Amino acid sequence: MILSIFLILLVAAIFGAVIGSFINVVAIRSHDGVSLGGRSHCMNCKKTLHARHLVPVLSYLYQRGRCTECGKKIHPQYPLVEVFGAFLAVITVLRYIYALDWFWMGYEFFFLMSLMIFVVTDIRWKELFLELMVGIGIVFSLYHMLLRVASGEAWYLVAWSHLIGFSFVTLFFFFQWFVSRKRWIGAGDIWLGAVLGGVLGWPTAGIALYFAYLFGGGLALVLLLTKKIKPGARVPFAPALIAGAMAAIWWGGYVINWITNATS
Ligand SMILES: [Zn+2]
Repeated sequence: MILSIFLILLVAAIFGAVIGSFINVVAIRSHDGVSLGGRSHCMNCKKTLHARHLVPVLSYLYQRGRCTECGKKIHPQYPLVEVFGAFLAVITVLRYIYALDWFWMGYEFFFLMSLMIFVVTDIRWKELFLELMVGIGIVFSLYHMLLRVASGEAWYLVAWSHLIGFSFVTLFFFFQWFVSRKRWIGAGDIWLGAVLGGVLGWPTAGIALYFAYLFGGGLALVLLLTKKIKPGARVPFAPALIAGAMAAIWWGGYVINWITNATS
């Protein structure tokens, strides 16, 4: 029993790391404006990478974080996103270990992984790609709505929940963007908020916002105290927003139960 659980988690971790490696490629190539086809190569010396250079995490450790050809440092984004993928896959399997619901697991894992594209592009280049956000938003909104209806919720309540989630978060960010004359948040954050609102639905989207401000505020405070940023500087908001989405997916159910119990 223990051994089989260990094996399942090991397979999940390997799968997650491989998907993380794919997410890295999508993030880099959307920044470079290159298609997904073609072989990967070193950013510095353009040497084509072979299978042994592309094993998630292990290649990075074996090469001590450097290109084997030119010795240039490999950006820590690669192993970090791969490790995150492994971690997320293991958590997702553990969440569903008693009821292996592949469709719900797929929703949670692939939606959160796809958001990692924006974490990478926001932190590295302060970019958020509109086409990717719209595509991911539409696909996962429809998928999540279908899942909820298939799990027994009334279709009109599900439709309302996602419409309210989408409208609320979009207007909430648009208002801040407008009032602060783009100083508090960027236009890209409005779009990312719209994606989260539409995909998560109400009230989960509201819980995601709450956690996002908690994480974002905490991060800004740490960066200010360690003098990594100056007062008034813009902190990339996508990572906080996505951490909020993750927290809402994992703990949203508990928060909703707690509120309904406290108010009834
Ligand atoms: Zn190189």
